[in-house]
Amino acid sequence: MTKHLQKCVNCGEYSLANPELKCIYCGGQLTNVKPPKFSLQDKFGKYRLKYFKEEFEKKYN
Ligand SMILES: [Zn+2]
Repeated sequence: MTKHLQKCVNCGEYSLANPELKCIYCGGQLTNVKPPKFSLQDKFGKYRLKYFKEEFEKKYN
């Protein structure tokens, strides 16, 4: 695994970052891939949001 993995916005293939940020498959633009950590944090954020929403509704109902 590399820490410089990028994803093509055109074809969705993963490829290594290169100076021109071009996809090796189709020549499309490469973008940074978010580490899995972020999606995990999003999940927790969602639960937290749900919790606060419930607390909020308890107070104002
Ligand atoms: Zn591509």
